[in-house]
Amino acid sequence: MKIVMPCFYDEFECIADKCTCTCCKGWGINIDANTYSKYQKFDGELGELSKNCISKLDNKNEYRIILDENGFCPFLDENGLCKIVKTKGADYLSDVCTTYPRTTTNYADIYELYLTPSCPAVVEFFYKYENLYLHEETDGNKKAPNESEKQILFDSELSNLFISMIRFPEVPLWVKQYLVLRLADKIKEPYLNKDYNTVADITTEYTDITSFAEMSIAILRSGFEKNDIKYSNLEEMRKKYTSYNLQEIFSQEDYSDIESRSPEQLREQEIEFNSTVYKKIEYVLQNLCINEIYSNLKKNTGNYYLYTNIAMIFIHTALIKYCMFIYLLKNKKILTKEDQIKIIALTSRDFYHCSQKVSALYETNKDVFLPNNMLIFLRY
Ligand code: SF4
Repeated sequence: MKIVMPCFYDEFECIADKCTCTCCKGWGINIDANTYSKYQKFDGELGELSKNCISKLDNKNEYRIILDENGFCPFLDENGLCKIVKTKGADYLSDVCTTYPRTTTNYADIYELYLTPSCPAVVEFFYKYENLYLHEETDGNKKAPNESEKQILFDSELSNLFISMIRFPEVPLWVKQYLVLRLADKIKEPYLNKDYNTVADITTEYTDITSFAEMSIAILRSGFEKNDIKYSNLEEMRKKYTSYNLQEIFSQEDYSDIESRSPEQLREQEIEFNSTVYKKIEYVLQNLCINEIYSNLKKNTGNYYLYTNIAMIFIHTALIKYCMFIYLLKNKKILTKEDQIKIIALTSRDFYHCSQKVSALYETNKDVFLPNNMLIFLRY
């Protein structure tokens, strides 16, 4: 048996009332049927809340907490602590509330443990570790995989390869992201046809350090155009995401004048942002990529295949960077670490927990997902 986890997994602790963007606000909190029945037996204030603030989800044996007018879970007290935990103990929490932000997958004899960046306490670790890695524990016993498990093991190998490309030292993140996308695009067809020999042949060039370095230099030397497409697309995406989770950050101010600035002006300001702010936090977004490639690549089913999954992670990093950039433009040149963490955590709630929104983004902007168009977003 093997257990895999991000290197910070055991250090994670919920910061509860000190949390700046609590998971008890602004999105659906589902509860399972067992927990629902337990809550219906509460009396007093908890009983009232359980009767009035929980609704049944259509066609599902699941329930959802109705948030108050400010978007908070009604079970929170004035200090941001859970009244159920305080009164009844943590055993009374639903599965979602107990496990968040952790999830687990098991395939073959491997257990993978994940932590989602939609929790700000998780994002803190992307700042703490300069080059995030995966930690493995094994008891030395191995079990032969069945046919479906072989597929996931293959995905796991690919995920490890992509992670090693993203961790490659001294090369800007956008160059490595582009190379990962180019490789994922090249293997897309043979991967779908389960032609794993061809996939292995194609990946060889990318596993060789010298050829990886040469490819990186060639990309760095290539020209950079189409700033107008870059900013208008990112602004369109930001507005879509501002409609929900990012409201907290962006609704306070009017951002309409961003659109009236010329691409040249924005480019000039972005260059300054890159050298003063982004340079110092690029490793944070690199860690986010590593964490999410590890967590999301073994879900290559339905509409989301290898390439789309990776492209989505990279679009997310481009959007985070853009949000930080325009926040800084509008906010008197102040972008605190807390602001950065909020932008990462809140956008992650859309990207990794709202499949409808992500699929809408893919369906309406398929062209954006092509490797060369992605390059326009990612490049700085
Ligand atoms: S978002 Fe994370 S740190 Fe904040 S309350 Fe939820 S689990 Fe705790």
